[in-house]
Amino acid sequence: MSFGWRTIRRAKLTGMNDQPPAWITVDLTAIQQNVARLKEYAGDAEVMAVVKGDAYGHGLLPVARAALRGGATWLGVAQMSEALALREAGIEAPVLTWLTAPGTDFQPAVRAGIDIGVPAVWELEAAVAAARITGTTARVQLKVDTGLGRNGAFGADWDALRDAAAKAQAEGSVEVVGLFTHFAYADAPEHPTVLTQQELFAERVRDAERAGLRLQTRHMSNSAATLTQPSAAWDMVRPGLAVYGLTPVPQIGDPAHFGLRPAMRVQARATVTKRVPAGQGVSYAHTYVTDRETSLVDVPIGYADGVPRAGSSVGPVLVNGERHTVAGRVCMDQFVVDVGDEEVAAGDPIVLFGPGDGGEPTAQDWAEATGTISYEIVARMSSRLPRTYVGGEEPA
Ligand SMILES: *Cc1c(COP(=O)(O)O)cnc(C)c1O
Repeated sequence: MSFGWRTIRRAKLTGMNDQPPAWITVDLTAIQQNVARLKEYAGDAEVMAVVKGDAYGHGLLPVARAALRGGATWLGVAQMSEALALREAGIEAPVLTWLTAPGTDFQPAVRAGIDIGVPAVWELEAAVAAARITGTTARVQLKVDTGLGRNGAFGADWDALRDAAAKAQAEGSVEVVGLFTHFAYADAPEHPTVLTQQELFAERVRDAERAGLRLQTRHMSNSAATLTQPSAAWDMVRPGLAVYGLTPVPQIGDPAHFGLRPAMRVQARATVTKRVPAGQGVSYAHTYVTDRETSLVDVPIGYADGVPRAGSSVGPVLVNGERHTVAGRVCMDQFVVDVGDEEVAAGDPIVLFGPGDGGEPTAQDWAEATGTISYEIVARMSSRLPRTYVGGEEPA
């Protein structure tokens, strides 16, 4: 391949850059197979693939379709706009949205047959209002706090929500489809809250059923619980991270242990390479200084693309098949790598992370290098990076 000026000028004239400096490849076969694997863990329970946050940075629609092909029967998102985007794309699978702010108009969700996750009475009232205006029934799933201490009805608020939901259902404005909760410590399977949350959830289920709510789906398991707590599966599991082939249990850093494969690969092409003497400071504030004559490679991807600035002088990269580390500061659009005496030319391939089987670092490696979790590494990859999709064909 050549990356000459002619190519670049033609790309500019046509308004599209078919030789982007950096880009993401998403392996839809991996997504599909990860979901199929999660279905095995789920046993008789259904799988809701969580595709919030633009499918953890992988791209909402292609991932949603691949997950459904892999055997997911539900899709889960945080925001209503994400749920509506699925419907606008013609996806008819059941969808649950669980994070809304007061003042939200639920009419579009009610019209589109989207399940609304309801953690508070105000939200139930908003769903009832939307149902009355549209002349239909709002599908809701009550969200109970069993110990996470976040979104979800807690303590006496649960009693109020349960009673309000039973009343609204009796009036015909809502159908209470399900009840769900979320773990605080599923990534630490031995933690006592993993059991106490399951016990309290069972109590809340009985309580809801006593109040006359006929729950079609009861669910609590994120990725970590899906993989390590089969007893918590109930009617459905809600894995997110594992769909993308990343491990939710930090003690088990290799997703292959769970039969999962990372789907995202982040790549760039060297723009400029140069030979510099010992003592040359590199990138802003010269936090890295060469200790010998060496070659520097400029890599055109930076924190505006989602590369953490905390990766300065610690982020791992694969340059021409060899492992190296970011030299000096990660900038908005680029960073530099010191490759010593290796031959690297402009245009040569650089991999920030991928599945790891070609010697490249993984999202987990970047998370460990920068003091965060792989969720954040993939979810923050920005929309400036074009996404290219490979695989994902219908199984033969
Ligand atoms: C994000 C989220 C999930 C998925 O969590 P993972 O750890 O990525 O599997 C499931 N349920 C809820 C309510 C969430 O917010």
